[in-house]
Amino acid sequence: MASLITCPHCGTRPKEEFAIRGDAEPRRPSAGDRDEAWLGYVYTRDNRKGRIHEYWHHAGGCRRWLVVERDNLTHAVYGVTDAAQFPKAEAAE
Ligand SMILES: [Zn+2]
Repeated sequence: MASLITCPHCGTRPKEEFAIRGDAEPRRPSAGDRDEAWLGYVYTRDNRKGRIHEYWHHAGGCRRWLVVERDNLTHAVYGVTDAAQFPKAEAAE
């Protein structure tokens, strides 16, 4: 069975229309934060197992940036949100 992602703009589509663009959970430091904060934000990732939030780009559809909540061990998808609506503070908790 094909993996399907429900885009909030286009409806249910095959995952091949999307490009995974990485962890959506790191929080961007403020402009005045120390270099170590920026180093961690740009280069360091936890690479966790289990339920995660990722940026996905609907390259073969609406071309919007989305945040997909999924389990990277089972590939179960729990939710898809437009990236502009993604509450970053909750994801970091
Ligand atoms: Zn779409």
